[in-house]
Amino acid sequence: DSLSNKIAAGEVVERPASVVKELLENAIDAGSTIIEIELEEAGLAKIRLIDNGEGIAEEDVLNAFHRHATSKIKDENDLFRIKTLGFRGEALPSIASVSNVELKTSTGDAGTRLVLSGGKVEVMEKASARKGTDISVTDLFFNTPARLKYVKTIHTELGNITDVVNRIALSHPEVSIKLIHNERKLLHTNGKDDVRQVLAGIYGLNIVKKMVPVTAQSLDFTISGYAALPEVTRASRNYISTMINGRFIKNYSLAKAIQEGYHTLLPIGRYPIVLLNIVMDPQLVDVNVHPSKMEVRLSKENELTELVKTSLQNVFKKQEL
Ligand code: ADP
Ligand code: MG
Repeated sequence: DSLSNKIAAGEVVERPASVVKELLENAIDAGSTIIEIELEEAGLAKIRLIDNGEGIAEEDVLNAFHRHATSKIKDENDLFRIKTLGFRGEALPSIASVSNVELKTSTGDAGTRLVLSGGKVEVMEKASARKGTDISVTDLFFNTPARLKYVKTIHTELGNITDVVNRIALSHPEVSIKLIHNERKLLHTNGKDDVRQVLAGIYGLNIVKKMVPVTAQSLDFTISGYAALPEVTRASRNYISTMINGRFIKNYSLAKAIQEGYHTLLPIGRYPIVLLNIVMDPQLVDVNVHPSKMEVRLSKENELTELVKTSLQNVFKKQEL
């Protein structure tokens, strides 16, 4: 069992950012409204996440570290119909198998403290705790040297983590998320359901002042979001963010349609800053690869890309007047 956890960890826990993603998604699934993430050395030394969610009952704590022990929905076929972010029950056992974990959790009354090393339980005891969960993952990959070798520089790993946290913050503006690295605050969203405030935390207020709302609607799609004026550009496509039904996705045609929406307004080799959420019938989305990789195939893709393109073109036509 410990071996199968380690094997699963190879898929679920590729790098520190994957741990942050899984823990953050668990905190959101638990209904948290305030989440704090503390990192040391881009998460390699320590990842601590404190939430004010529903917590884990004493009798369920050990079970949460067993594979496929999800308390959530079991249907993997339609990712876009599933409300919770996690659903496979692999994250905690995988993470625990390649690190040292300390968990303090409470559903409101008696709390529990659990300590694991390489997936083995070292301590389980009652502990006083306020409602919520406080989990620390230290010494990531200490027992999997091959995996550790594959980890890149602190700079790169931290970049991956901030990408993950930024995305989740953008898709959950109703949750206050604070990210601290080596005691430096990198992001703090206010949880007041204001996407612009989250964008300001990520890109800076000066950029957000130059972002305009985008909206469009057809029979099948509703588009809403923000697009930076063509004068604000970036050297990479990474600033084009697309969500479907509130979930971040990657789709080449969609990103291309966004660029085409700017038409000749962008200098060659420069890309816009855009955040679009597209609401559609989940049946029109096909998650044809590993869910965490985010690539999707879309039915009615041409209709959608055309709508995206014209919605941006309309915005910038209005700007010129
Ligand atoms: P999954 O999220 O796919 O269900 P995980 O391994 O990530 O699987 O978590 C296992 C279980 O532990 C979850 O189903 C949930 O019941 C519980 N859990 C994990 N993290 C939290 C948290 N922060 N707050 C409350 N419950 C949690
Ligand atoms: Mg999970």
